[in-house]
Amino acid sequence: MTPGAAMPRAPGLFLINIGQLLTLRSPVRGPRRGSSLSELGIIDDAAVLCLGGKIVSVGTMKNALRDPWLKKNRKKVTEIDCGGHVVLPGFIDSHTHPVFANPRLVDFEKRIAGTSYEKIAEGGGGIRASINGVRSATKSALTDKLLRALGDMAAHGTTTVEAKSGYGLSFDSEMKSLEAIRSAAKRWAGTVVPTFLGAHTVPPEYRGRSRKYVELVCKEMIPTVVKRKLAQFADVFCDRGTFSAEESEEIFRAALENGIALRAHMGQLSETRLEPFLRFKPASLDHMDYVNKDDFAALASSDTIATFVPGANYFLGLSRYPEARRFIEAGIAVALATDYNPGSSPTLSMPMAMSLACTHMKMSPAEAIAAATINGAWAVRMADQKGSVEAGKDADLAVFAVGDYREIPYWFGTNRCAGTIANGVLLGNGSL
Ligand SMILES: [Zn+2]
Repeated sequence: MTPGAAMPRAPGLFLINIGQLLTLRSPVRGPRRGSSLSELGIIDDAAVLCLGGKIVSVGTMKNALRDPWLKKNRKKVTEIDCGGHVVLPGFIDSHTHPVFANPRLVDFEKRIAGTSYEKIAEGGGGIRASINGVRSATKSALTDKLLRALGDMAAHGTTTVEAKSGYGLSFDSEMKSLEAIRSAAKRWAGTVVPTFLGAHTVPPEYRGRSRKYVELVCKEMIPTVVKRKLAQFADVFCDRGTFSAEESEEIFRAALENGIALRAHMGQLSETRLEPFLRFKPASLDHMDYVNKDDFAALASSDTIATFVPGANYFLGLSRYPEARRFIEAGIAVALATDYNPGSSPTLSMPMAMSLACTHMKMSPAEAIAAATINGAWAVRMADQKGSVEAGKDADLAVFAVGDYREIPYWFGTNRCAGTIANGVLLGNGSL
């Protein structure tokens, strides 16, 4: 969903004096696995030319200055001096829940006092606590909050955001949430990938009648979402206390029959066998804290991305994180996302997610960067347009005020992003 007519036309941009340009240009076709996850395609002392929202040339400063077209037209493009800093593809945050009304501060305090996420949910907190806020909010209030979040994400270097509904959980409020995503997407220069997550949890009025709710999702919500082109993906939270594997398969089947692509929350709290789901070819299976060892090979031979969201492990105070090394060594394509949401991961910073992946999951800084860019693009099925700095791709770039890319996950809890370019538009958030 690229920006609509309301967006300013992308001017020509010429980024110069880039100390380290991480192109992420691909040594292989398909998502990055194993050792290819560490190949960042670095060009030192580089320049990038963008025209009409697309990248048109990438190379060393020396070669760029010799370009005959640039010699003739240099005055027509806006020059951005990157001051010897690092430039990389804008982050792809491939898992977020940004449509909500309020932070969940009571849950936060309860958890600090020792109550678990699941106990809080059983007591009416958790996802259910966000439902009332969304149901009573107007579409424009939700749109405004979402736009602010998108602006904050861009300020941290993110240019593509997968955005889920899932705090309405009634026909009307799920549609309202997706419409809010559509309205915000039209007013933001970056790219929004809308996902329908009607199967986030069973809403209170269906308690004990989850089959009835699954029927509503499959027979009414999904067909309407598809007919009105409100989402590119359907998602389901398959876990203990939410939807069973059997119910999740039913939702997957309904989604496929209606022609919408799939993704799912899997293995956050407990293990679900993944192999039966892989035959539906989901774009991504997310969380992956608990995965059966017998599923690793099947996952590795699929094009499904395993997306880690360590912000949730951090914020829930868990000592256990997904076993990224096992995934990478098995040849599974992995991505990183924030899981931005009010209950378990109120962060919209991809560098923070990357820092957690490095310190707690033992991913190298290079692996974390590839997981947050090119593999994130695969996770939202936009790798042809996004995720690397190559001629012909969308002009989505982030400039970080650091001299070495490893500093991006190193300086945690602070924002070193100096500027973000989304679809060729320089966003006015940084110091560029
Ligand atoms: Zn989630």
